[in-house]
Amino acid sequence: MATVLNDVDEQLAGALRAQGLRVTSQRLVIHRLLREHGGHVTAEEVMGAVEPGLPGTSLPTVYATLELFEELGIVRRVHPGRGPVLFDSRLDEHPHVRCRHCGRVSDLEGSGALQSALRAAQDVAEGQGFTAERAEVVVSGVCADCRIAGAG
Ligand SMILES: [Zn+2]
Ligand SMILES: [Zn+2]
Repeated sequence: MATVLNDVDEQLAGALRAQGLRVTSQRLVIHRLLREHGGHVTAEEVMGAVEPGLPGTSLPTVYATLELFEELGIVRRVHPGRGPVLFDSRLDEHPHVRCRHCGRVSDLEGSGALQSALRAAQDVAEGQGFTAERAEVVVSGVCADCRIAGAG
């Protein structure tokens, strides 16, 4: 792969170099995909999207890369309750909805009060001497599409 880095790549390259880590084409391609996708993806979905351009990429490598990105603060991990772990390129605390029928996970829009509550919960935890790392809300149920289709 020609290593002409665009702005998105440079952000990753900077974060990697700051940790003394190598800038590899695999890391660059996965990072680009996350930024372009902009939603919630599973490691399997990332794998499926990058594999054609990076033959020989394995799922453990994709997982390791996503975990590295999490450590670098580039993605957040979302635990939707059931189903595979998702990686979210939106970095602020925000609540999610998960459809138990189709498994789709989306951001819960217009949820400023909830976001404040998530931050407040962490502040309270900190006040009790707890080192808060994250607070999560996942509302599960049946999405509008599935309900219309008669599911649930
Ligand atoms: Zn659904
Ligand atoms: Zn999200």
